Amino acid sequence: MSRRTMPKKHKKPVADHSAERKTRKCLMCGKPFPSEWAGERVCRKCKSSAAWRSA
Ligand SMILES: [Zn+2]
Repeated sequence: MSRRTMPKKHKKPVADHSAERKTRKCLMCGKPFPSEWAGERVCRKCKSSAAWRSA
């Protein structure tokens, strides 16, 4: 029973973890900002203003 060394064909995508932290455009000011998670679409500056909530 001979064991063949398997060639590494399967390469894991390197840029997989970058999905969490992504540079997005703020919906309020339109400026690019580093969003900490996928659902964050407003930069912290606009968020702190709290004006976007009642928009
Ligand atoms: Zn903003």
